[in-house]
Amino acid sequence: MKKHALAKLDQQYLWHPFTQMRDWLRGEPLVIERGKGALLWDVRGREYIDANSSIWTNLHGHNHPKINAAIRKQLTKVAHTSALGLASEPSSLLGQALVKLTNPRTGLPKRQPRLARVFYSDDGSTAIEVAIKLAFEFARRTGRALKPRFLSLDGAYHGDTVGAVSAGHIELFHSAYSGMLFKTDKAMSPYCYRCPFNKAKPERADARDTRKCNLECIDKVEQQFTKREKRGSQYAAMLIEPGMQGPAGMIAQPKGWLGRVAEIARGHGTQLIADEVMSGLGRATEQYFASHDEEVQPDYLCLAKGLTGGYLPMAATLTTQEVFDAFLGDYSELKTFFHGHSYTGNALGSAASLANLTLLQTKATEAKRKKLAENLCAESKRLWHLPQVGDIRQAGCVLAVELVRNWQTREPFDLTEQAGIRVCSSLTKRGILTRHIGNVIVIMPPFCTTQQQVKKIFTALHDSIDETLNKQ
Ligand SMILES: *Cc1c(COP(=O)(O)O)cnc(C)c1O
Repeated sequence: MKKHALAKLDQQYLWHPFTQMRDWLRGEPLVIERGKGALLWDVRGREYIDANSSIWTNLHGHNHPKINAAIRKQLTKVAHTSALGLASEPSSLLGQALVKLTNPRTGLPKRQPRLARVFYSDDGSTAIEVAIKLAFEFARRTGRALKPRFLSLDGAYHGDTVGAVSAGHIELFHSAYSGMLFKTDKAMSPYCYRCPFNKAKPERADARDTRKCNLECIDKVEQQFTKREKRGSQYAAMLIEPGMQGPAGMIAQPKGWLGRVAEIARGHGTQLIADEVMSGLGRATEQYFASHDEEVQPDYLCLAKGLTGGYLPMAATLTTQEVFDAFLGDYSELKTFFHGHSYTGNALGSAASLANLTLLQTKATEAKRKKLAENLCAESKRLWHLPQVGDIRQAGCVLAVELVRNWQTREPFDLTEQAGIRVCSSLTKRGILTRHIGNVIVIMPPFCTTQQQVKKIFTALHDSIDETLNKQ
């Protein structure tokens, strides 16, 4: 078949993120034309299930009538006006909605901070960048640290801008940019499946459920704090992806970990930056925010990906009145937060987000999320009999399958074997779109995905693993 004209244009003019372009230029890229619900169609009319919600952004499905209508309605008024010196209707209403949603009346202990202010930006990375800068300044202004330093988890990923990369600990990205990053410290990540403290033999179950340990990973985090204190200083903030570390390989935290680590951080005078770019807004949690699953309210809550329902780039960093107040003063004191983007508080993005939050809070969506989580759990069980399935871990509507050479030894595939990439290519042929993270396959379809569709995803995943890794 002749290469599609749009595929040719792409290959002639574009440069894709996180993509070895030499490989990209060899094949014919899939050109997506339209979507509806959990489905996408390419320009050749082939149908796919969007099994990773278009890189974790889409919540309620594509082409949703309510979100479409909200954007159209705003479009008849104005698409964008600057937040530098001007207020707008949708951004103000969204601010109110976000503060309300992130401070539930029940479920959080009284002495936790209250999120009171919303700072908008455009992407997860910028939401983190804002939180880091605020925490840095806050630590200096409150005299807790002269040279504020940050702590984050092993394998952490908080985005690709320079500050966000500095806060992360993915070796591959770090070595590439090491000369331009600032130093941050790393604490042990609670990766039960590959934990040296976990004495349990491999079993056909989520490693968190069979683990034999004393949560030594928490002691390791605490040691990091005491080490810092011995040097006579404190961390300005600790960054955490609550519930599940997404880009690190969907590492789901064992129950109790987050609550205890938050307590330790606070006990050491350290603020918490919750990166809920992936986990938040009902994705990797039964509530709206994974922090709240462990009754933790962070000092900074970063939202992006799902904020607009997966429609437009928009992000929010929520923080407390206390932080806000540290930036108040006489103009001449220059305490202003000197940071902002051209599209901050974008009207179309805000309108989409408002519609998204309204949808999220309906009984119907609640039921869909619950059903999807159950279906993911039930349908994934068929994978356990495959010897290359090492771990299956789930948090809310996110499920991950870690592929290994042999489940009984947990021996990983070498990255150069491209096990994840090959399984995903095989999935594409079967009409299922998702991305791997190394040897981890991510299944995270929109909330509207039906039981039939979930079944189709896991049948295809089963056959793809079997075909790619078993029969070679
Ligand atoms: C995607 C992601 C980011 C970065 O967001 P971008 O919108 O890609 O800049 C940060 N943190 C987490 C947990 C993410 O999943």
